[in-house]
Amino acid sequence: MATDLAHHIQETPLVDTHEHLKREPEWLQDGPDILQDLFGNYVTADLRTAGAAPDAMQRLLDASDPDVAGRFGGIEAAWHATRFTGYGEAVRLIARHVYGLDELSAEGLAAAQGRTAELRRPGERYRLLRGVANLDHVQTDDFRWPCLPDHSGIGFFLYDLSWASFCRGDIDVRAIHAETGVDVTDLPSLRSAMEAIFAKHAPCAIAVKSQHAYARTLRWSERSDAEAAAALERVLRRPPEEIDTATGLCLGDWCWARGVELTIEHDLPFKIHTGYYAGNDRMPAPWIAAGNMCALFARYLDARFVLMHIAYPYCDELAALAKHYPNIWVDLCWAWSIDPYSAGDFVRRFIHAVPINKLFAFGGDTGWPTAAMAYAMQARRGILAALQAEVADGSLTEREAMAIASRIMRDNQYACFDVDGTRANIRSAA
Ligand SMILES: [Zn+2]
Repeated sequence: MATDLAHHIQETPLVDTHEHLKREPEWLQDGPDILQDLFGNYVTADLRTAGAAPDAMQRLLDASDPDVAGRFGGIEAAWHATRFTGYGEAVRLIARHVYGLDELSAEGLAAAQGRTAELRRPGERYRLLRGVANLDHVQTDDFRWPCLPDHSGIGFFLYDLSWASFCRGDIDVRAIHAETGVDVTDLPSLRSAMEAIFAKHAPCAIAVKSQHAYARTLRWSERSDAEAAAALERVLRRPPEEIDTATGLCLGDWCWARGVELTIEHDLPFKIHTGYYAGNDRMPAPWIAAGNMCALFARYLDARFVLMHIAYPYCDELAALAKHYPNIWVDLCWAWSIDPYSAGDFVRRFIHAVPINKLFAFGGDTGWPTAAMAYAMQARRGILAALQAEVADGSLTEREAMAIASRIMRDNQYACFDVDGTRANIRSAA
């Protein structure tokens, strides 16, 4: 019989603070076939680590090849090695709950492939996320500045304003002009362009987001206008391949700081990718720890920094930062899939180290609604296991565990993000 805690976690609408969800038209017209649906997510990295050959991986995800059994056969050995990882567990959840498959086999997959067409109908994407996954709303980073109303679920699909290119020191003069009408020729015009982007898109944005940790170190230092002006001049005059790392970091740090100042002015949290990389063969570990940003946290005490993915594997450091800096919130998005036991352990440590209003429980970080649904199931299982363990060893009562679940699944996010204000702005824009 389910406990009150289990029932409560199941019934509480879960705020999804991080996805890269593709839009409704893409789901309908260019959505996944069964193998793309099961494997077109983070699991490909574990399959490669397990030894799957690149051409077998390519074939696996090639929907123009109708031989579903043959495509699966090429990675079957790697799948058997991968099925127990967090990414593998999410694949098994999609298989069971979307396709009715308890085990992946060539025959089973071939027989179940018609199911995808049934799901790729208008409104099914919303139903899977709102109804089946029981998500309160979804915050998507679609790598762009605009945060336009999404008519497939007004008020349900909220968007981040992307600041990643600026943090990298990439100044796309043409794109900025198209968006704002501002010609960037020097530092004052770059500053005006940034202000114009916020003036235009901040009201309908739920947050600002950057994942520049994939392209540069998270280490930040204060840069003067004179230093940044010199760096900008080099960036504007030379092709990107001739820009040295120091120049990019200088301009990136300056733009990042202006972005943080604009989030304070527009009352938006600033989400930052910290920790583990998706994919294979490229993660420079020293770049990704949240401690690289201490100068930024200390400089902008009025900002709201949301540090994503629990900075895995630098989770203890992140807990210490969140304990020390009132301007830090911590997000378990994607963490339940990267390393489920570390995520659960992190929750238990966090409860007893950091005030519990600073933790967000979930973001799937996926593109398809079926994957987001599976990642939400996985998160709920992890939250339940962690809180049940706290109750079992007498650290929390069941009632206290339920209150913590409410906070980390929904209430903390509503306290940090202006969900109602953003929804109102979106409704009037629509
Ligand atoms: Zn992401």
